[in-house]
Amino acid sequence: MAVTYKPQLNYVDFRDLTEQIRFQSTEGKIWFGEQRMLLMHLNAMAAFRREMVNSMGVERAKGFFLRLGYQSGVRDAELARKLRPHCDELDIFLAGPQLHSLKGMVKVIPLEIDIDQETGEFYGKLEWIDSFEVEICQTELGQMDQPACWALLGYACAYTSSFMGREIIFREISCRGCGDEKCVIEGKPAEQWEDAEEFARYFKADPIIEELYDLQAQLSSLRSSLEKQQGQYYGIGQSAAYNKVCKMIDKAAQGKVSVLLLGETGVGKEVIARSVHLRSERAESPFVAVNCAAIPPDLIEAELFGVEKGAYTGANQSREGKFERANGGTIFLDEVIELTPRAQATLLRVLQEGELERVGDNRTRKVNVRVIAATNESLEQAVEEGRFRADLFYRLNVFPVKIPPLRDRLEDLPVLIEHFLGKFHSEYDKRTLGLSDKALDLCLRYHWPGNIRELENVIERGVILTDNNETISQEALFVVSPSTAESSPTDCVDQGGKVTNGEPGNSTTGHWSEHILGANISLEEVEETLMREAMERANQNVSKAARILGLTRPALAYRLKKSGILAET
Ligand SMILES: [Zn+2]
Repeated sequence: MAVTYKPQLNYVDFRDLTEQIRFQSTEGKIWFGEQRMLLMHLNAMAAFRREMVNSMGVERAKGFFLRLGYQSGVRDAELARKLRPHCDELDIFLAGPQLHSLKGMVKVIPLEIDIDQETGEFYGKLEWIDSFEVEICQTELGQMDQPACWALLGYACAYTSSFMGREIIFREISCRGCGDEKCVIEGKPAEQWEDAEEFARYFKADPIIEELYDLQAQLSSLRSSLEKQQGQYYGIGQSAAYNKVCKMIDKAAQGKVSVLLLGETGVGKEVIARSVHLRSERAESPFVAVNCAAIPPDLIEAELFGVEKGAYTGANQSREGKFERANGGTIFLDEVIELTPRAQATLLRVLQEGELERVGDNRTRKVNVRVIAATNESLEQAVEEGRFRADLFYRLNVFPVKIPPLRDRLEDLPVLIEHFLGKFHSEYDKRTLGLSDKALDLCLRYHWPGNIRELENVIERGVILTDNNETISQEALFVVSPSTAESSPTDCVDQGGKVTNGEPGNSTTGHWSEHILGANISLEEVEETLMREAMERANQNVSKAARILGLTRPALAYRLKKSGILAET
C-alpha cells in the first residue's frame, strides 16, 4: 500500500525511541537499545573533520564521513523495525529522521514521502534544519563549494536502503553549508539517478596507503639519483666505524693518489670505490670496475690494457682495454692480488708514467686514470711470499682504507635492511611489512661472514618468500637457523599450555635435520636406520615397531620388505 506523507501528521511523538536511552554512568556506558553510544563534543568532531579535510583532501574526507553516517543508518533501520512492529510503514520509516533528531544531529522536516515496501517504490524529499555539519563548516572550515552534510546523507542512504531492501540514494539538492538558503535532500532508487555509479564510489573504502607507498618509492628513487648526481653517494651507514671510513674517503677523494681498500669479502668495497670517484673531480668521467679474480690469467693483460689485432690466436680485432675506457676517470681493481706478474708490471708503469702499450702493440698510449685497488688478503704477506711486486704494493698502499666487517658495525644493520627491503620491494613489485622482531633479533646476533653481500641475499630471499602485507619471518630469511653468538634460553608454551623452559619441540627437529643434511646422509638411509632402530626396540615385532614409528602395520611391513630389512629377520 502506498503511503504519502502529509505534513499535518503527528510526527513529534517519538517517546518509544527516547525510552531506549539508558545511562549506565557507573559502568561508563550509554545504551541505545542494544547499541552502545557515545556522547561526544561537537567541537571535537569539528576539529577532527577539519583535520581529515586538510590531510586527505575534500573528496576523500567526504567519502569517509558518508561511510561513517552509513554505518549508523544500517543499525537504526534494524532498530526501527524492531521497535514499531505494529505501525504502518510510514511510521516505521519516520523513526529514522526522528532518531537523527534525537541524537542531536539535525532536525528533520519531511516534505514529501511516497513509500511502498511491496513494490519497492520510494520517493522522499526532506528538509534538514540546524544540521551539525553545517555548524561545523561555519565554525571550522568556512563555506564549502559543495553540499556539506556528508554523514547525514550517508545515514539517509543507508537507513532508507536497508528499510526498503533496495538501493535508495539521497542527494542534497541544496545546502546551507555551501551558501544555499536551506538544506534539502531528495531520495529515490539508485537506477533513477544518472550518476548513481559515480556516487556509489564514495561508499567504497579507498585506502590511501597504496598511493602513499607509491609516492614513497618514487621519492626514494628520486632522492638516490639526486644524491648520485651531487656526488653524495656513500653507501649506507651511520655507525662510528662507518663514519670513520666516510671521513677517510672524503679526504682520499680530494687528492689524486691511489687508494687501497682493505676488508673482508662482501663489505661493500665497490660502493666505497664508487663513492671516492663520485666525490672526486673525476665524477663526470667514467668509473670502470674490474674483478681481477673473475678474469682468466692469460686474458687479464688484454682485458686491462687492450690488445692489437693478431697479438695472439683469437685476437681478431684491435680493442681498447679497461684502462683506456676509464681514461679521465677512475678504475677499480678488486682482488688486485690476482694480477699476473706481467700485468703487475704494466700496472706499475701506468701508475708511474701514466702510459701503457696494448698487448701485441709497440705504440705507447697516454692514459690518465686514478686507480683504486682492493683486496681481502694481506698484500704485505703476498709480497713476502713473492706473489706480489713490492714496488707495486708501495705505489698502491699510499692511502689504505680499512672497511669494517658488518659484525663490527651492527648499528647499521637496521638502515641496511631498510635499504635492501626498498630495493627488493621495487624489484619484485611487492610490499612486505619488514622483518619480524624475532628475525631482526637473529640478524643482530648473527656473525655475517659474507658481510653486506650476504645480508643483501638474505633480505632478497625473505622478500621472495613473504606475501604482501606480511612480516618477514626468521624462517623466510634463513634456510637453517644460523648459529649465533649466544642463544639465550627462552620460555615456551608446550602443547598442554604449560610454560616450560627451553626450545619448543619442533626446533630440536631442526638440530638433527641440520646434522643429517650436513653429513650428506640420504633420505633412504635415514628411513632405514629409523626402521632398524624401531625393530630393535620392538624386539623385531612389526606391529610394535609400527606403533613406535606412527605407521600402520601393513605400511611398515611394506617398507621393511622394500628395503630388505624384513627378509633378513
Ligand atoms: Zn546541508
